[in-house]
Amino acid sequence: MIILKSSHEIDLMRRAGKITAAARALAGEMVRPGVTTQSINDEVERFIRKQGAVPSFLHYNGFPASVCISVNDEIIHGIPGKRALHEGDIVSIDVGAYIGGFHGDCAATFPCGRVSPEAQRLIDVTRQSFFEGIRYARQGQRLQDISAAVQACAEGNGFSIVREYVGHGVGSKMHEPPEIPNYGRPGHGPRLLRGMTLAVEPMVNAGAASIVQMDDGWTVRTADGKMAAHYENTILITDGEPEILTAPAI
Ligand code: MG
Repeated sequence: MIILKSSHEIDLMRRAGKITAAARALAGEMVRPGVTTQSINDEVERFIRKQGAVPSFLHYNGFPASVCISVNDEIIHGIPGKRALHEGDIVSIDVGAYIGGFHGDCAATFPCGRVSPEAQRLIDVTRQSFFEGIRYARQGQRLQDISAAVQACAEGNGFSIVREYVGHGVGSKMHEPPEIPNYGRPGHGPRLLRGMTLAVEPMVNAGAASIVQMDDGWTVRTADGKMAAHYENTILITDGEPEILTAPAI
């Protein structure tokens, strides 16, 4: 069942969302050559706690860190560590913060220094596919209207959609129904209703769609070793335009 949030709950989600978005922005500012992914994780965790919030991802199903940091061919769920970033890397950062009983969840891919035009195009198209998708995130539309628009944008630009991982409802739990695939058929899926809060998160591969799970039990990367990008915001379905709760979006 898809949970509809009350206006009070939405206020609480706005607060969680703002902290989460600020954490994402902070992480993005830290992306530069020589910085380790661990140091980004630690700084972001400190920031979240200073706001009185808790990192949503820490210990979630056993995840060992506060931020997912996935570099180049890593798509999602990368574990921060000693790895130092290099000029030309692209760095996907996914972060969640929990406060007042609710979660915010957002992600973006950041270029490290100067990146190849193709890498930048992947980042831009992935972000664009999110915004194409949420044009349909309105009361009365069907869920897969979002999915189909994300897919059309990514595939129309020659990239491929990760199918094994999807967006999701978000609220007092980080993962609530419904699942939100980044592919689908217009007119299918549940009807969208005001008060739904959804994490829409395209994961887009530069090459083929196939993925592999790495030996650390978490990191998911592209099977062909080509780059991947990720972009996510938590949004609220309203009577009109969706509201981005992890605002400001970047
Ligand atoms: Mg998410």
